Amino acid sequence: MGRNDRSERPKDCSGKPKGLSKKLKYCNNCGLKLDYRIPEGDDRPRFICDACRIIHYENPKMVVGCIPVWKDRILLCRRSIEPQYGKWTIPAGFYEQGETLEAGAKRELHEEARATVEFLEPYGLYNLAFISQVYLIFQGPLKDKNFRAGHESLETRLFKEREIPWDNLAFSVVREVLRRYFEDFLTGVFPFHMGDILPEMSY
Ligand code: ZN
Repeated sequence: MGRNDRSERPKDCSGKPKGLSKKLKYCNNCGLKLDYRIPEGDDRPRFICDACRIIHYENPKMVVGCIPVWKDRILLCRRSIEPQYGKWTIPAGFYEQGETLEAGAKRELHEEARATVEFLEPYGLYNLAFISQVYLIFQGPLKDKNFRAGHESLETRLFKEREIPWDNLAFSVVREVLRRYFEDFLTGVFPFHMGDILPEMSY
């Protein structure tokens, strides 16, 4: 997880249409209260500062993460933060300003599991349109078995497929990509996957 944005966690998959929620209150240019209405020529409401004549556009956020692999096992982290405290996940979070996606995935891996990979390959792209998020998930081999819980994890552990806590995973996007991964593991070929995660998918 990114360190700064505590107000909106990428993993808060509660089903609320966050991209459409009224969460901006004040203009970050002049500090006056924003109006929320459809600008002329537009087709959806935006946050508008009538003093600055600025429209504060909101766009979807991207989350980066990875499946860290050690032979026939993968590394998962048990969350020490809400939402989904105590549940298992792959290391993932918002990537930061000025960072490449790959660097973001490596940083999250270090923050949450203090682990390092030899390299990363893009593996899955998932739309979570109902919360205006996109997940890009890499996969790659761990450099070694030096890993331990980072500040957002209770514990970190390697899992074989049969050991994966399927009923105790934090998010449906994690379940989806891990299912794919272990299917591909049988063939040894890891093609790029794209998919949509829907709100009705159970967590
Ligand atoms: Zn303003």
